[in-house]
Amino acid sequence: MYFSNLLAPTLREIPAEAEVVSHQLLLRAGFIRKSSSGIYTYLPLGMRVIQKIEAIVREEMNKAGGQEILMPIVQAAELWRESGRWDVYGKELFRLRDRHDREFCLGPTHEEVVTDIARTNVYSYRQLPLMLYQIQNKYRDERRPRFGLMRGREFIMKDLYSFDRDEAGLDVSYQKMYEAYTTVFKRCGLDFRPVEADSGAIGGNVTHEFMVIAESGEAEIVYCSSCDYAANVEIAPGLPTENPPESPQEMAKVATPDQTTIAQVTEFLKLPPQKFIKTLFYQADDELIVALVRGDRNLNEIKLQKLHRALNLELASAEKVKELTGSQPGYVGPVGLKKVKIYADEEIRTMVNAVCGANEEGYHLINVQPEKDFQVFAYGDLRFIEAGEPCPRCRAALQSARGIEVGQVFKLGTKYSQALEAKYVDENGKENLMVMGCYGIGVSRTMAAAVEQNHDEHGIIWPLSIAPYHVVIVPVAVEDEVLWEESVKIYQELQKRKIEVVLDDRDERPGVKFKDADLIGYPIRVTVGKKFKEEGKVELKLRHEKDIRFLDDAELCNFVEQLVTTRCEGDWRHVCYRHYSSV
Ligand code: ATP
Ligand code: MG
Repeated sequence: MYFSNLLAPTLREIPAEAEVVSHQLLLRAGFIRKSSSGIYTYLPLGMRVIQKIEAIVREEMNKAGGQEILMPIVQAAELWRESGRWDVYGKELFRLRDRHDREFCLGPTHEEVVTDIARTNVYSYRQLPLMLYQIQNKYRDERRPRFGLMRGREFIMKDLYSFDRDEAGLDVSYQKMYEAYTTVFKRCGLDFRPVEADSGAIGGNVTHEFMVIAESGEAEIVYCSSCDYAANVEIAPGLPTENPPESPQEMAKVATPDQTTIAQVTEFLKLPPQKFIKTLFYQADDELIVALVRGDRNLNEIKLQKLHRALNLELASAEKVKELTGSQPGYVGPVGLKKVKIYADEEIRTMVNAVCGANEEGYHLINVQPEKDFQVFAYGDLRFIEAGEPCPRCRAALQSARGIEVGQVFKLGTKYSQALEAKYVDENGKENLMVMGCYGIGVSRTMAAAVEQNHDEHGIIWPLSIAPYHVVIVPVAVEDEVLWEESVKIYQELQKRKIEVVLDDRDERPGVKFKDADLIGYPIRVTVGKKFKEEGKVELKLRHEKDIRFLDDAELCNFVEQLVTTRCEGDWRHVCYRHYSSV
């Protein structure tokens, strides 16, 4: 491809709306353009990256036994009513009506459609196990679409669904997918970690998320420095620490004027935050509930939601809190609360002489004894775990990192096969429900995650396996016939060897071309300049290295071919080449 023919509109300025690096760079380097909030066009460079990722995904899904299909984006409401999700999916579901006033939605995920395919086409145990997948646009009307491709409203996902005879079969399919995902992200050149994850409000099912490690990640994970334990903090269990024993004192009310935060009250009373009981009020479906954690801890809403078995959980409004306690949130506590369930973190159980709000403005209670001074409805693990705490498996110190969820594998069990009656007949003629798993990869999010992880102040540094092109050739002066001819010669030779090359044929200063090359992030840059005239050598620079090598053109082509072949194994290497080989 000659650069002058490529639609790669690079921008010098950082677009104002872009908060994270991947969003900024993908816009600036001309990979994507916003169409509307959370909805993007992939320009030629962006499309090539998407195709590379898709090709890796496709190859690994096929290897694991997946069969590719393409399901409809527009899905009938009836099917979603059968599964019960039409009413519970809420505002994230894009809903629409046809000219006959029939209701439809745009698929956010395809469990319903694929289970319908299975129930109408699979009858016998002989047809199982079965793995069906597709790569397609998904639609979710996210509350906060942001960070460019990271959280879109229209995005590209690979979703695979497994159907097995029983739980043991599901275990095998799950393991296969877990391994396939590991290979996919390795081949994409990403630093990632599979972590134990939350399976939704009411589940007990096994699930792992695949996290690309990056500062800008929305998820926080903890991992063990000595064993292979790793989990999303949403579910990582907190081992309660014992509070130091002391003799209980009589509860008393103290004045704490204008001290409404834990930090203020600890300072005011000269007590450490561990002595405080943090009291939070939540609206859990139709019920108001109370949750307690120690003053130095943070409440984990997912754990609370599970303990209470709530479908929806959100912080109660200040008015509701006042209605129940008679006080504003800064002065509330569990003592004297009636007709409300109090959930407490395990660490509250052993607290002695604790401090909490007195449910009276300007006052706190000291020397509060849990169980004696207030009743807890249920104890549980309700807090966020932090770095440095013991690993739940081996007790070594945990470390924390931020991650971008690029994929998730999930044991569904019979949730959908039961609702939609997807059954098969076993060898004894008995009908059984199919046992299902679902497995998603965010293809467009993976592209953004790769940029988050691989960039510098000049631009993107694509891993070779998913780079839009492997090589850019920069003749330092296009009007110089010798340099131009040599550039074209290398260009043609590399193309012959199925290397994807851009020839920067613009009549621009070399500095401008180098800037664009760094911004776009080609892994390999070849410069044809005066050294060629003097010594017959051209310059080779890898994007992720500082060093420059000088090679003659035969050495150069061999070097590049070798590098591309070793870093990019598989049929998918030339997928873009096949699609876009015209110059
Ligand atoms: P999140 O928690 O980030 O909202 P999710 O758990 O709802 O994601 P899944 O239903 O597990 O997402 O979807 C499978 C994959 O699709 C995710 O791992 C992620 O990579 C990708 N994905 C989900 N939502 C979006 C989105 N709004 N934009 C881009 N990719 C997404
Ligand atoms: Mg997920």
